[in-house]
Amino acid sequence: MAKNIQAIRGMNDYLPKDTALWQRIEGTLKKVLDGYGYSEIRLPIVEQTPLFKRAIGEVTDVVEKEMYTFDDRNGDSLTLRPEGTAGCVRAGIEHGLLYNQEQRLWYIGPMFRYERPQKGRYRQFHQLGAEVFGLHGPDIDAELILLTARWWKALGIAEHVKLELNSIGSLEARANYRNALVGFLEQHVDVLDEDCKRRMYRNPLRVLDSKNPEVQALLNDAPRLSEYLDEASCAHFTGLCELLAQAGIPYTINECLVRGLDYYNRTVFEWVTTSLGAQGTVCAGGRYDSLVEQLGGRAVPAVGFAMGLERLVLLVQALNPDFTAPPTIDVYLISSGAGAQSAAMQLAERVRDALPQLKLMTNYGGGNFKKQITRADKWGACVALILGENEVAAQQVVVKDLRSGEQETLAQSETAARLAQMLS
Ligand code: ATP
Ligand code: MG
Repeated sequence: MAKNIQAIRGMNDYLPKDTALWQRIEGTLKKVLDGYGYSEIRLPIVEQTPLFKRAIGEVTDVVEKEMYTFDDRNGDSLTLRPEGTAGCVRAGIEHGLLYNQEQRLWYIGPMFRYERPQKGRYRQFHQLGAEVFGLHGPDIDAELILLTARWWKALGIAEHVKLELNSIGSLEARANYRNALVGFLEQHVDVLDEDCKRRMYRNPLRVLDSKNPEVQALLNDAPRLSEYLDEASCAHFTGLCELLAQAGIPYTINECLVRGLDYYNRTVFEWVTTSLGAQGTVCAGGRYDSLVEQLGGRAVPAVGFAMGLERLVLLVQALNPDFTAPPTIDVYLISSGAGAQSAAMQLAERVRDALPQLKLMTNYGGGNFKKQITRADKWGACVALILGENEVAAQQVVVKDLRSGEQETLAQSETAARLAQMLS
């Protein structure tokens, strides 16, 4: 027998038992974005490889080892997008959306990274991201954080995510700090693992991010980025912290928070949880004031974040049972006997015309009355509509309340009105 072809490792199918929860969560997220005046942008999944190399940075995990890159039939190097910001900026420049304008945008969709699959880490995963262009003050950074905080409340997980903040300053301040940090690391090479040694000259700030406990201990004595911050970045950060405090959003300043992508400056933040094991970052972002220029546009300040939807879904699943109730229908339409199936289809369409919000499922594939009632229960219907030969001949229908067991016979023309009453 031929071997079954299976999905690619780390790339998941999302089955009907899961998609109801996904839709509920996505609906909640989109409603909040809409309420803040953010608009959706839809972008291609494939972009030219140099876009990501330039935007994310050559010496990052993503570009060094996680990208799905291939040559197309013309020999052009293309990459499945590992994140959404680069494509968003590319599109913004290409369509003249950015210069001298304000944009509040969001996107949702699959991202691709060649990582070791585990809980909360996949090779195809989904992000919802927001990007704001044209605003430089800390107030808009704060708004993005308030918006995400509103999400956690709406999803019932607010108690389980904590905000971590840092400022990584200007490019110049970071260059100064970089020299100091390399100087320090050079005196302690013996403690560094291979990864850190490799990063020490190419991208030393990433050493701060190391998960190695010995390196973390060493870093307690390292020079601090906060001591090298430029004045303007300090003022921006103080402004942000004040706005958050005034808005009642608790946060922790984490001086080791540097983010894995090179385009950030000033504000960086993460929402983290301890409820997901090692994959604790649910939502991460920051300011990237030089990216637009770096990608060929005229300089425009920008700030944004991306949220991993799989991690969010895992959290909601674990913490908020209200969201995970399986989807049900309202009404199940049962029919049996000559001409009944066709009459049932017509009745169903008439009811749908009158009650577009109603969830009505029609029985197909026959089955006796008892079997069809069992199916109605399985789908969680509260009402069954029943059409037998007699009802069809008399243009009537039996309406059965599946909770109380009571039933009545009505003219078919009264069905919608009666259902509206019963289900209100
Ligand atoms: P991590 O430190 O977990 O690798 P990252 O710094 O690579 O995260 P970003 O590139 O900032 O993450 O992406 C933002 C969010 O997208 C992450 O916080 C996470 O929720 C989610 N994410 C990133 N990579 C994956 C993945 N491979 N599978 C599932 N979700 C992911
Ligand atoms: Mg990563």
